Amino acid sequence: MNEPAAKRGVEIIVPSEGEMSTTLNAHPDVAIVGAGSAGIAAARRLMASGLTVTVLEARERIGGRTLTRRFKGHPLDLGAHWLHAGPINPLVKLGRARHEPLRRAPVNGHFFVAGRPGSRAERAALDRAFAMADRAMTQAAKAREDQPAAKTLPPMGPQGKRVAAIHGLVSGRPLDEVSLHDFPSMEYSDNLFIAGGLGAYVRRLSHDLPVRLGTAVHAIDWSGQDVRIESSAGTLRAKAVIVTTPMAVLQQDAIRFAPALPNDVAQAIHGFTQGVYEHVVLHWPDSPFRGADRLASLTGTRLRPPGLLTRIDGAPFHFFELDQPTAASFDRRDIHAPYRYAREVLAEQFGYRAIRNLSALHSTAWRHDPWSRASWAVVPPGLYAIRDVLKAPVGERIWFAGEALSRAQWGTAGGAWEEGERAAGEIVAQLR
Ligand SMILES: Cc1cc2nc3c(=O)[nH]c(=O)nc-3n(C[C@H](O)[C@H](O)[C@H](O)COP(=O)(O)OP(=O)(O)OC[C@H]3O[C@@H](n4cnc5c(N)ncnc54)[C@H](O)[C@@H]3O)c2cc1C
Repeated sequence: MNEPAAKRGVEIIVPSEGEMSTTLNAHPDVAIVGAGSAGIAAARRLMASGLTVTVLEARERIGGRTLTRRFKGHPLDLGAHWLHAGPINPLVKLGRARHEPLRRAPVNGHFFVAGRPGSRAERAALDRAFAMADRAMTQAAKAREDQPAAKTLPPMGPQGKRVAAIHGLVSGRPLDEVSLHDFPSMEYSDNLFIAGGLGAYVRRLSHDLPVRLGTAVHAIDWSGQDVRIESSAGTLRAKAVIVTTPMAVLQQDAIRFAPALPNDVAQAIHGFTQGVYEHVVLHWPDSPFRGADRLASLTGTRLRPPGLLTRIDGAPFHFFELDQPTAASFDRRDIHAPYRYAREVLAEQFGYRAIRNLSALHSTAWRHDPWSRASWAVVPPGLYAIRDVLKAPVGERIWFAGEALSRAQWGTAGGAWEEGERAAGEIVAQLR
């Protein structure tokens, strides 16, 4: 039993990894909805300050949109995999302090044109197009009026489509649906990976936290002095609640607030669009890619994958990435459609002989998962302010946290962690 909690006579069974709490502390100082990166970060911060916490998690597992699963004995991330923005990513800082097995992501990727390695000149042309796009977007973002990020892209010749496709992939929506003011705030430099998977790492960080699994929160009543949280496991009362539920889930009114949330907060929640990014996990021992963890640009053919991460961890596994339009095109088709598409694209590039021993092992569908409904939240043009609107607590009792609130690391596990810690820090200051 957790020592300080036991002294206060509170009933908590502290879980170890793989064995989660089944008994609810019905009167914690703070309730946390969701045991993803933001929820775990918040719980750690609150407990380190001596507050009692109960984390309610709808799924039967911890980690949210981080999840490591084994394929042929090898750990692979089905959600977040990259530790982006190393210098500002709190998961990197913590990983270094814990001596976690971090490794730098290679900077140079593979570049193929119709199955042959691209020439130096062809590669330079693509690099120039990326630089032009970055300059144009950074410059245009200084104007007061927001606009779709796509509108600011200059003509960039044949490489322009590739640049827009990559930016659309990492944004989660095509660039004409993305706020220009929001887009450049994302930091992507200095990326890292972690051996054993990012999902497994986030799960390690949840060790000893009082998490109640399989417990969906469906109502939050903040009409009284405390907050009443109604869940599938019963009701609890707390002095404050941190809601880390993904925006796309909140948009479905999965949680009823009483009284209703203020208009500006409700509008901010409903302002986001669903970012879509899905992995098709490939096993391809004979792939033409050498080295470990390198991105591949495949150009010069009719079909072009927006993203391909090759030889993950030096093993014969690859992520064939699906952007929003491609994933949406599979929505009314059979479950094997993404596999066939990945094979078709790679066969067109390298020929059918080259993909003889390629097998597709899994295709993610976070966009259809009732507890995520998207890969991350995207800010459409004109709604730049909505991330910040959600940072202010409601009635000094309800805090929102999660990837959607982060400005510099939106859409990432590091951003979610940062926001979980921020919300927890504010609550500690207030309850003191
Ligand atoms: C395929 C894919 C690839 C990605 N790649 C990267 C990457 O490489 N690097 C990166 O940093 N990020 C990446 N991301 C994004 C990253 O996974 C998320 O931004 C981050 O994990 C979100 O953390 P969170 O705590 O905000 O939300 P979540 O992890 O979604 O946590 C919220 C939790 O709330 C729970 N919940 C929802 N509703 C309720 C309810 N009513 N009651 C109780 N619990 C509820 C959910 O089950 C979930 O566990 C990727 C995402 C996807 C899907």
